Amino acid sequence: MARYTGPVCRLCRREGLKLFLKGTRCYTEKCAVERRGYAPGQHGRGTGRRRKASEYALQLREKQKVKRIYGVLETQFENYFEDAFRRTGVTGEQLLVNLETRLDNVVYRLGFAGSRKAARQLIRHRHILVNDRPVDIPSFRVQPGHTVQVRERARQLPLVMEGVERRGQEGTVAWLEVDYKSATGRMLEVPTRAGIPIAAQEQLIVELYSK
Ligand code: SF4
Repeated sequence: MARYTGPVCRLCRREGLKLFLKGTRCYTEKCAVERRGYAPGQHGRGTGRRRKASEYALQLREKQKVKRIYGVLETQFENYFEDAFRRTGVTGEQLLVNLETRLDNVVYRLGFAGSRKAARQLIRHRHILVNDRPVDIPSFRVQPGHTVQVRERARQLPLVMEGVERRGQEGTVAWLEVDYKSATGRMLEVPTRAGIPIAAQEQLIVELYSK
């Protein structure tokens, strides 16, 4: 599956905020946003004359931000939007629910990996079981009642231990429960917008696609 393979810190600098794409490094002073808090490229520091961003530019930036947070490419993102649009309820919220219930995101939220990218790596290497069966598709949609577990042979991987250490301190979201002894999590319910800790204005994305 196609995926972005360029420098990820550049994406955070472009959005002007921390998207937490690199795991532990994101929480240290080595974070590129902390060190160079301006956009990348020749004009990143600005020319001194700032133009007010257009409505379209704001909507586009919001879409890019959410896409980058979850690590999905354009076509996949559009498919999530179309699915959200077809469902009843608030389209923007449903879009975030679609992204949030991806297996890679759930593995990250449970703390079995320090970033969504690391979670994808674990999944592709068949280290993750869903309902006791290996699943190697990062976009697999987790449903309420599903258990998500790290295989025993992978529990000592630095990738996993790093994530568990951080999430153990912070705790996970209310719609998941986790037992770190058995490295097992469970989805309790479909998340609502209030249960999705993403600082995004999803309505701007809906407006963008509604043009
Ligand atoms: Fe973004 Fe993390 Fe890189 Fe900081 S260290 S710029 S939060 S990916």
